[in-house]
Amino acid sequence: MRTRLDHLVTTALQQGSAVPAFTCYDFTTALAVVGAAEESGRGAILLVAPKTAATANGLRLIAALRTLADAAAVPVAVQLDHASDLKVMADAVAAGADSVLADGSSLPYEDNIALVKSARALLGPDVVLEAELGGLAGDEDRAFGADQSGADVAGLTDSAQVEDFVSRTGAELLAVAVGNVHGKYKGEPRLRWDVLQDIAARVHIPLVLHGASGIPAGELVKAAAMNVGKVNFNTELRTGVLATLQDQLPAHRADGENLQGLLARWNHSAKEFATATLATLAR
Ligand SMILES: [Zn+2]
Repeated sequence: MRTRLDHLVTTALQQGSAVPAFTCYDFTTALAVVGAAEESGRGAILLVAPKTAATANGLRLIAALRTLADAAAVPVAVQLDHASDLKVMADAVAAGADSVLADGSSLPYEDNIALVKSARALLGPDVVLEAELGGLAGDEDRAFGADQSGADVAGLTDSAQVEDFVSRTGAELLAVAVGNVHGKYKGEPRLRWDVLQDIAARVHIPLVLHGASGIPAGELVKAAAMNVGKVNFNTELRTGVLATLQDQLPAHRADGENLQGLLARWNHSAKEFATATLATLAR
């Protein structure tokens, strides 16, 4: 069912949980996420990468996700992830996205604020805006190969800036950098709970953790207590799907080029991950 992303997240926080957001490059994964959400009786967020939204086919995927979200038995939001291009934001919203991460985190502070304000002016009050403060290392669409080192932890969010940033941007959610990275971790992830706690004490909108793949479940369950109401997953979902496809491809090829069967395994793998994640964040 249709929901406002900020309402979905706020309601979850009131119950002591966070809402997972899953990057969907394709419809099979989105079906798995929504299926898992319906079976768990909890809401979820479908994330669309900006590279997806920048193509005509990607905009058709957003339209399909909109239909899927609206028809779901639980609240499901469709968010354009990590966008810095205003045209891509407008196109994605026109296609059916109900929220946008206006991402100026790599820009100078004032330019970051200006980007979020431009997005609000362009998209209007009904589109929920998430903003991001503090540069996160890594690339959300591509994990690092096993032979390469993962991303180093980049700039932490400066907690002294968050009140000014939130009040001037008017963002409904704030993504923070507290030791999380996009893509894969180099070594053990070390979340800076002290920084997160400081941020949570200063602003009262829901906080968001990006790059949560690789953060142990035992750590993630603490997030909601620090007002983290939304947690984004991408890498781990891809890892599981790709491993399943690699494992299952030969047998399904031999079985009369059984693409339908292979898609079912893809769906199953993504659904298992989404189900486990929904359960972790609901604790
Ligand atoms: Zn991010």
